[in-house]
Amino acid sequence: MNIKTKILVVDDDLNLRKTLVDTLKVKGYETVAVATGAEAVAVVEQGGFCLALIDLKLPDISGIEVMTRIKSIAPLIEVIILTGHASMDTAIEATRQGAYSYLHKPYQMDDLLRNIRFAVERQQAQEEILRLASFPRQHPNPIIELDPAGGVTYVNPAAEKLFPDIVAKGLSHSLLRDFPYLLPKLRDSQEQEGLIHEVEVGGCTYELHIFSVPEFGLIRIYATDITRRKQTEEEIRLLATTDSLTGITNRREFMRILESEMDRSRRYGTPLSLIMYDLDYFKQVNDTYGHDIGDEVLKAVVRLVNEHIRGVDIDARWGGEEFLVLMPQSDLAAARNTAEKLRQAIAQHSFKKVGAVTGSFGVTSFIPQDNASSLLKRVDDALYQAKERGRNRTEALVGGEKKDKQDKQDKQESEPNSGSAG
Ligand code: GH3
Ligand code: MG
Ligand code: MG
Repeated sequence: MNIKTKILVVDDDLNLRKTLVDTLKVKGYETVAVATGAEAVAVVEQGGFCLALIDLKLPDISGIEVMTRIKSIAPLIEVIILTGHASMDTAIEATRQGAYSYLHKPYQMDDLLRNIRFAVERQQAQEEILRLASFPRQHPNPIIELDPAGGVTYVNPAAEKLFPDIVAKGLSHSLLRDFPYLLPKLRDSQEQEGLIHEVEVGGCTYELHIFSVPEFGLIRIYATDITRRKQTEEEIRLLATTDSLTGITNRREFMRILESEMDRSRRYGTPLSLIMYDLDYFKQVNDTYGHDIGDEVLKAVVRLVNEHIRGVDIDARWGGEEFLVLMPQSDLAAARNTAEKLRQAIAQHSFKKVGAVTGSFGVTSFIPQDNASSLLKRVDDALYQAKERGRNRTEALVGGEKKDKQDKQDKQESEPNSGSAG
């Protein structure tokens, strides 16, 4: 670990600050922690920071404003925004304004450490670019210089090797294809910051750091292959949105998808249904065969379910051995049918080492008056009914009906067996 890596922590919550500082210290980072935006700006002025972790809600200045101010003092500093759920939009805006990433609280320490590692790597790469700027020949990455008309005036050996025809092709080379529109932007940009632009050439993604060098009337381009960064960003995205055991959508991501699917249904009046299922007596499976075998059963159940739902359906792990399937464009009858198919597929499957396992299913459909919690509550009630009525069965609840009417319907449905396995 690079002992010179100095991180600034800006959070008014004393406990969070302490936890972060302690953890980062263990990981070998040097940290300075402050509680306000004003203090943050003051310490950055002393220099030496490569990364700042900034809480969005600070007592004095907003987190975004702190970011803007410290970046104007130290343009190369990377920023990770820490935010509560309510300020997600602002956090996303922060990344548009130059934050490396954002994490919402409570964040997983692993996620945060991974983000920190990549942000630090990126900051160091940028510094390296500037450090080597005066030695383009030795630079391991491609460097290309253009005159203001777009003619290529210099390429270093690394660029020559990777893009042998760039001098001949000039702006018609695919690496430079966006320059006609980038050049005016570059003129407007701040001199020392330049522009960062991504371009794909021959299956690789290059990040171009473009600076104007006014003393020579030139434009200098530093290209880095960040294909790898893209991969790590994709890894981070997957870690944040999927469940690590089963690989399906996690609870947090599911909530995001649910909100947007409800919006869509409200806007276009299209049906939307939700299935929730929970395995029956699963504690016994764990107690009898052990937790690892239990985990294998969970994975196998998810595989089975995936085989029986459509590509547009979203299956998610709600927690423990409780799962959800969100079905856009499906009404209650269709969703109930699917739930029954899933129930039967599980009940008929012989699970390795364990044999038979069953699940109970609740189904409901979205109504325009619903919010996420009313919809989830209803599907949970339906699941509860399925458990109450003997497990290994499917129960559906219609939204928006008066409770007594619902109870009557439930009673009618429970008399002729409503889809339980015999
Ligand atoms: P019920 O029919 O009422 O659902 O009975 P149950 O035993 O399944 O009860 P409940 O759903 O309340 O208990 C869930 C059990 O699932 C508790 C825990 O042992 C087990 N479980 C939860 N998460 C996991 C997991 O990730 N892996 C494994 N192997 N077991 C889990
Ligand atoms: Mg259970
Ligand atoms: Mg459960």
